[in-house]
Parts: sequence; structure tokens; C-alpha cells
Amino acid sequence: MAQEPLAADAKPWRSSEETPFIKLRNITKVFGDFTAVDDVSLDIYKSELFCLLGGSGSGKSTLLRMLAGFELPTSGTIEIDGQDMAGVPAYARPTNMMFQSYALFPHMTVEKNVAYGLLRDGVSKTEVKNQVGDMLALVQMSELAKRKPHQLSGGQKQRVALARSLIKRPKVLLLDEPLGALDKKLREETQFELVNIQESLGITFIVVTHDQEEAMTLACRIGVMDQGRIVQIGEPEEVYEYPNSRFVADFIGSVNMFEGRVIEDDDDFVRIQSEDAGCEIYVSHGVSCSPNQTLWFAIRPEKLEITKKKPKGSTNIISGIVEDIAYLGNLSTYRVRLDSGKIMRLTRTNRARSDEDKITWEDKVYITWDDKAGVVLTS
Ligand code: ADP
Ligand code: MG
Repeated sequence: MAQEPLAADAKPWRSSEETPFIKLRNITKVFGDFTAVDDVSLDIYKSELFCLLGGSGSGKSTLLRMLAGFELPTSGTIEIDGQDMAGVPAYARPTNMMFQSYALFPHMTVEKNVAYGLLRDGVSKTEVKNQVGDMLALVQMSELAKRKPHQLSGGQKQRVALARSLIKRPKVLLLDEPLGALDKKLREETQFELVNIQESLGITFIVVTHDQEEAMTLACRIGVMDQGRIVQIGEPEEVYEYPNSRFVADFIGSVNMFEGRVIEDDDDFVRIQSEDAGCEIYVSHGVSCSPNQTLWFAIRPEKLEITKKKPKGSTNIISGIVEDIAYLGNLSTYRVRLDSGKIMRLTRTNRARSDEDKITWEDKVYITWDDKAGVVLTS
């Protein structure tokens, strides 16, 4: 699902010696008595594709608009490329914004739409022609250069808008739900193209999206937003494998969550009693918690094994009845009703010729997992 990440030496956020390109410090935005963005501090690096991911109303667009200079922070500072943005109007910032409603000029051809910004800046005609040609080639719109916006599909308009917002080579491109108007299939294709374009230009992209799969596909790093706050920042794999809260675990991907209580807390393992799961859960790494503390064990559907035969051992085994199976081609999804009444969701790859342990509706099954496969959450 995730893109092939940048090479290990191109992950500046992993080094404390790298200087961030964009620095947000304690940014808050209040509308009346409503806090839309709440004390956000964030570093973004040069050539990074950073995604702000969150549900509707979580403050993503407001944060982006403050970067663009369309909205002023109530408090806090924004620095881009070493320059404090306080008092710098939108047009003088090293940023450009691509809007979801592509806002193309309807009476101008594709070519002219893209050329507009350069011509207005007095760039010579030959130079404009060259640059527009290169940019249309990059977004694969060369052949449709003479068309007008109403003669284009949604995906094509999106490409023109992208070309237009990149033609002046902003240092930072801000994209608010850039693929929001496209249907699912086109959206997925376009995600990869967007990544390719971003990588080939090396421009820093900040993309707002509410779609977690999209964020996973596009981003070098994701900042997860909830109620105006950034609740976790990490590489896609990090936020998926190591969510830091129930909110993030639940928001990104699908997860089974069990409430429990610590019954044994050692340096390198914990045992959790969970009525929710109806079994004892053993986790083979230390967890910072206090004795008897309530916490949550979260495990992804693809990390679970399902069998009809009772496995050996006494921890990390849950039994239940198969309530539903969805065949998805390469994998199947099972919904199992546990003895505790809770529904557990798991997926299994469909191997050819695996009839010997075929599982069907109403079967009694056992679910097990590796003692490192889940995460323990304390908030
Ligand atoms: P998102 O992009 O994550 O969906 P927004 O940043 O657009 O969220 O909005 C965050 C919250 O701030 C919402 O509750 C929205 O209603 C509120 N908000 C945004 N802009 C304004 C405004 N100009 N005046 C009042 N409230 C606003
Ligand atoms: Mg928005």
C-alpha cells in the first residue's frame, strides 16, 4: 500500500542535526470561542511530502491556510526557509496552494491556463513556451494542450491545476484534498503520479486529506489531526504499526481493540487480563504502566491466525464462532463472534489448495497471534 519510501539517507526527520524547512511553533487559531487549531508545533523538511490526515473539522484546512497566509494565527510562529512569515502576505510567501475546486479559467485553453502566471510575471514568450511544454509533459497533458477546461475529465482538470500551481516552482506546494473530486480508481492511479511528480521536482508538498489510505500511499510522513491538535507524527509504517493512542489505531486501518488490566508487569513482558477478549494476553515487551492499570490491547486483522484445531498454550488464544466471511479474491475477511460477545475481525490470504483447514460459517474457531503482533495503548 505504501510507496517505496525515500532512501534511508533521505529521511532528514530521523536526524536531530538536519534543519527543518518549515517550522511551526505553538500555532493556535481561534474563531470566536472555537479553537480550530490548538497549539500545533511541527517541522517539515525540504522535498518532503507531508500529509495532514484527520476527520472532517479537525483543523487541517485551517492549518494549511495559515501556511499560505490566507489566515493569520491567533498565536504561534511559522517559519519557512529561515524566514518568519509574520506580516508576510500570501502573495509574497514561497508557497502556492492548489485548491480542490480547481479554479481553472474556463475561457482559456489548458496551455494558457498553465502559462498565465509566467506571462503575468513578464517571462519571455519562448521561455514560457518551453516551461509550459515541460510541465504539461510532466503531468501527461501535452496532447490536450489546446482543449478548454469544459472538454476535460475531472482527472485531467486536476492535472492542469497541478501544472498551473507548479509552473512557478514554489518552494512549497499546499494541496487541500487534491484528489477529492476523483472516483476511487482514478484516485489511486493519480496518487502514484502525484508522488512521482513531487519526487522529480523535489518541491516540498503538504497535502491535506481525510483518507487514510491516501495518506499512507502519498506521504513520507503523516501528521494525524484530531480536534485541532496533531496527535501523532510518523512515517506511514510507524503510525500504522505503532499508533500511540486508541484514536490513531482506530483511525488508521482496521483494528481489534480489547480493554484489559495489567496483572503482571515485568521489564520485558506484561500479562493483561481482558474480559473483553475472554483470555489472558501476553505481550513480550515492556510497557510503561502501573499495576492494575486499565489499558487497551490493539491488534490488526492481518496479524491473526485462525484455526479449527485448538492450539497449544493458554495465552493469546480466543475462541469464537464464525459469523461472516467476505471473499475478497486474494484474501478473505472473517468476522468471529467471541464467547465474550465481542466481534473480532481478521483477514487471511487465500492460498491455493488449502482445503484441509477450510473454515466456513458457524464453525467454532480459535484465534491466536504472536506475542509481539499487537500494541498496548494507555490512552
Ligand atoms: P478540516 O479541513 O479538517 O475539515 P477546517 O480546518 O476546515 O477542518 O475547520 C476546522 C474547524 O474550524 C471546523 O469546525 C470549522 O467549522 C471551523 N472553521 C473553519 N474556518 C472557520 C471560520 N472562518 N470561521 C469560523 N469557524 C471556522
Ligand atoms: Mg478541509
